[in-house]
Amino acid sequence: MTKYVFVTGGVCSGLGKGITASSIALLLKAKGYKVFMQKFDPYMNVDPGTMSPIQHGEVFVTADGCETDLDLGHYERFIDEELNYTSNITNGKIYSSVIEKERRGDYLGATIQIVPHISNEIKNKIYEAGHTSNADIVITEIGGTVGDIESSVMMESLRQFKMEQKNNAFFVHTTLVPYLFGSNELKTKPTQNSIIELRRLGIQPDIIVTRSNVELGDSIKNKISLFGSIPKENIIEAIDVNNIYQIPINFHKQHIEDIILRQFDLPIRRSNIKYWEDLIETVNNLNEEIEIALVGKYVELHDAYLSVMESLKHAGYKHNLKININWVDSESLEKNNCNLKEVFKNSKGILVPGGFGQRGIEGKIKACEYARVNNIPYLGLCLGMQIAVIEFARNVCHIEDASSREFNETCKNPVIDLMAEQKTIINMGGTLRLGNYECTIKKNTLTSKIYNTDKILERHRHRYEFNNKYKEELEKNGLVFAGINEPSNLVEIIENPKLSFFVACQFHPEFKSRPNRPHPLFDAFIGAAKKYKK
Ligand code: GLN
Repeated sequence: MTKYVFVTGGVCSGLGKGITASSIALLLKAKGYKVFMQKFDPYMNVDPGTMSPIQHGEVFVTADGCETDLDLGHYERFIDEELNYTSNITNGKIYSSVIEKERRGDYLGATIQIVPHISNEIKNKIYEAGHTSNADIVITEIGGTVGDIESSVMMESLRQFKMEQKNNAFFVHTTLVPYLFGSNELKTKPTQNSIIELRRLGIQPDIIVTRSNVELGDSIKNKISLFGSIPKENIIEAIDVNNIYQIPINFHKQHIEDIILRQFDLPIRRSNIKYWEDLIETVNNLNEEIEIALVGKYVELHDAYLSVMESLKHAGYKHNLKININWVDSESLEKNNCNLKEVFKNSKGILVPGGFGQRGIEGKIKACEYARVNNIPYLGLCLGMQIAVIEFARNVCHIEDASSREFNETCKNPVIDLMAEQKTIINMGGTLRLGNYECTIKKNTLTSKIYNTDKILERHRHRYEFNNKYKEELEKNGLVFAGINEPSNLVEIIENPKLSFFVACQFHPEFKSRPNRPHPLFDAFIGAAKKYKK
């Protein structure tokens, strides 16, 4: 029988609910339980695929091709399990599915109402995650803050879920305990009010996770315990940390997983957490630093590149390096007076990540050219590969006006172009090339050395492709097509063997990197950057 843990948030957003949920899942997995994770987002978009990265941060893509909230990236990095279409549910998804059923006549003439039709649909999505994953424990995070209008039906569904599942449902509520300077004290009132708000919705939390910048101490804990009707040991402190991967260890010391298992009446086995403790030991003792330039157009919101940042860090852990990111706004490189030498003076690698639309493109091409001409390690991800192709076509092969159809519809030489099946698409949502595709790696290439295998599966999220019409010309000039998706004959990886490290891929390796298992491409890129000398 699957058990369900729900993680809600109070007081304000940004308290680390996603990290709390991920840490709980990691700790339960470390006890030998099969876990699965799910996030409910209360917005009306069907998925975040069409949302601006500057507003919403990165769109994370699952292996089965779902465009999801960036918290799912945290989940996968913490629990090292592949999530899927059942893992990210939005109000938009729920409502469209109910309306579709109504149009089909599935409700047999009933009046469709928020309760029970929408609330049933929400509960069904929770049950579906349990059934399809076959997990012992499903951890579901509810986006937003308790009391929001948007999430109120979701909260109502959780209340009903508890009624149906009784002891198989467990509630974790994260709150803030602010420290007031001047009076120099911690304040519990926001937490108290947030618990009251949750109770008004019919939910009694089982655990309170308190975010604070100092230890709570006994009297504060007693107060929260008394007002919240929560045993004192069920108040788990989430004190600010420098590194999110520290959180599971901090929770483990407070036995959060044992409290949950005890309430579920499940055996409390020995914890297999040593591997994570070793990781934290490494992370806390990195003794060298290195700067990597990340050239993008959404750099004002670092979350827009969350998985890329994490992947760089993971590779850094392996090479015993702390990674400092040199955030470069690609548009700024387009200005006439921009001194590239100055911008990249301390950077030992240049990374051009994914992106959409025309803004900042020429700046990225300049950065790529700078990397190629100066033999600085270059890693191009998705758009970063398309940029590398355009740069090579223009500046090495002298193909006039080479560009992507995305940025210049009438360009003479679209070295990156739309595939036939993409030309008739009218719907923007969910119609990119998404999720896992196989790639066959060419023998005797740097890529084959890096991956040490000839077949890989990587996750995609893009509409435009390398235009095979130009393959021969680029190859003649020294570009190597190191990875191909054979069924479609689409280019997946390119490299420039004349340079010490110049690799770019059409997919997003950043979605598959794990803190204790960096992705091979990031690993090799950071390895090359470490060796790079000006
Ligand atoms: N805009 C490009 C495309 O649609 C690249 C997308 C990306 O980098 N994710 O093909």
